Amino acid sequence: ARKDYVFSMNRKRIWAIDVGLIESFNESAKASSPNEFASAMREENGVLTELVFLPGSIGSFTSATVPLHMLPIDFSLAGTVHSHPGYSNRPSDEDLHLFGSFGKVHIITCMPYDITSWRSYDKDGNEIKLEIVDI
Ligand code: ZN
Repeated sequence: ARKDYVFSMNRKRIWAIDVGLIESFNESAKASSPNEFASAMREENGVLTELVFLPGSIGSFTSATVPLHMLPIDFSLAGTVHSHPGYSNRPSDEDLHLFGSFGKVHIITCMPYDITSWRSYDKDGNEIKLEIVDI
């Protein structure tokens, strides 16, 4: 399927996240509160570097609302980030379904949206550790 092609061709391991990206998604999450914020993320040499806003994903990131067939092919798209407007960054059943659909790394951030508010997960919903780097 096209959606697998878009997100899975790049097989490099994701090992780190840029601190600027953490600030970006937390700022966006705060701005969207009390609604959810959702975005894709780009990686460079195994480091998550920036947000990539997908058409149709404003306020929600269910597989039903993100028109993956409209995306340009972009091998640097590594996964997704979204916010929970509460104090849990654990994935919901719906999140696990999304994680399994595409991408390698999925981040959930929650209130109070600070440097420790987020967790990262693999496509099966297992927590993975990412180093924080400043590039
Ligand atoms: Zn969620």
